[in-house]
Amino acid sequence: MTTDISRRGLIGLGVGAAILPAISVAQATKEKNRVGFAIVGLGKLSLDQLIPAFRNARSARLAALVTGHPEKAYGIAEEHRLPSSAIYTYADFDRIASDPAIEVVYIVLPNFMHAEYTIRALKAGKHVLCEKPMATTIGDAEKMIAAARQANRHLMIAYRCHYEPLNLAAMRLLRSAKLGKARLVVTDMGRQADPDDPSDAWRLDMMKSGGGALTDMGIYGVNGARYLLNEEPIEVQAWSQTDKSDPRFREVVDSYSWQFRFPSGAIGVGSTSFNYAATMSWRVLSERGKITADPGCFYSGNRLTVAGGATPQIREIDQFAREMDWMAEVVRGRAPMVSTAEEGLQDMRLMEAIMESAARGGATVATKSDFHRSVDPAAVVDMVSA
Ligand code: NAD
Repeated sequence: MTTDISRRGLIGLGVGAAILPAISVAQATKEKNRVGFAIVGLGKLSLDQLIPAFRNARSARLAALVTGHPEKAYGIAEEHRLPSSAIYTYADFDRIASDPAIEVVYIVLPNFMHAEYTIRALKAGKHVLCEKPMATTIGDAEKMIAAARQANRHLMIAYRCHYEPLNLAAMRLLRSAKLGKARLVVTDMGRQADPDDPSDAWRLDMMKSGGGALTDMGIYGVNGARYLLNEEPIEVQAWSQTDKSDPRFREVVDSYSWQFRFPSGAIGVGSTSFNYAATMSWRVLSERGKITADPGCFYSGNRLTVAGGATPQIREIDQFAREMDWMAEVVRGRAPMVSTAEEGLQDMRLMEAIMESAARGGATVATKSDFHRSVDPAAVVDMVSA
């Protein structure tokens, strides 16, 4: 099954669509057969990354735009040859139920709005791709999962690193145990938040973000340690530091660091901050080597080095196109769901445990749960060879 999915991935999923030569017409998914996506929220991520990524997608296409400012959508609709009826406002969002062009609703709103719009889209009979973090509370995340089950629709969380070649190469190297057992994973994910940027204003609001830097950037490290090791932490200890004189941190913590203990004996050390220079890096120390990804989770320009073994050559792809194509193939029944809502809920639980431990001055918090990743990205998502 894995081989079949892998082979099909290369020819049908638009994997590496940005850089692979054009595939044959017979294999290419025809425009009209592509899965139509409604993008909800025309902020930074949508305008700068997702909408441009449809140009590189093979299975996904832009079908509708949902915005509080329709004037933002006119030019995009024209460029993508969408009728004016494909522009929705939040007030008439539920009209999507009667729009057959929309099969997937991609929620790209501030975190506190994810649950409401995900549940409304599921009730309208649509599949949902929801940005990370899936919600701001565990209760909301559970309601989203229940709504997807009730509607019998797919709910995927947008963990783009599950589809990113550098991260996939590292996962495969670690699964192969060529460097021996992994002993330590270190993840550092943060940046300086800008309170004058409306896109950061809600991230500095505890209710709207659900956890400041931790839920915005730290989540890459929490998820990353788990997918690199392919196991789940059983305990966490965390600490926080907040510069109370800095007006950015009236509500949210400025920096967190934590240590996860994994059943294999590996330790995961993480940090996140809205008060250090931009970094999205990680490294794994194994018995006979070290894997460093710095940067490891940027949109582009990621760099991998392996000490103690050969460094795989990585070809860059459009991560967003590939992720949307994967969702489209899941909807068509041609690929397994990788980034499940349960995966998103597991990160919500772990981030809450980090916050709880930090609030208790580094107390040990048990994180053992029944969650086991059912599909390992390393086993099913294709690599793009250099
Ligand atoms: P943004 O603030 O730039 O965009 C949010 C959009 O929601 C804006 O168009 C805004 O007008 C709209 N909106 C509607 N109602 C709003 C309200 N009540 N308050 C504030 N905005 C409202 O944010 P963004 O950077 O595009 O992030 C959106 C989501 O995408 C977040 O969940 C974020 O975590 C996620 N994200 C993911 C990645 C990734 O790499 N996967 C990168 C960036 C952001």
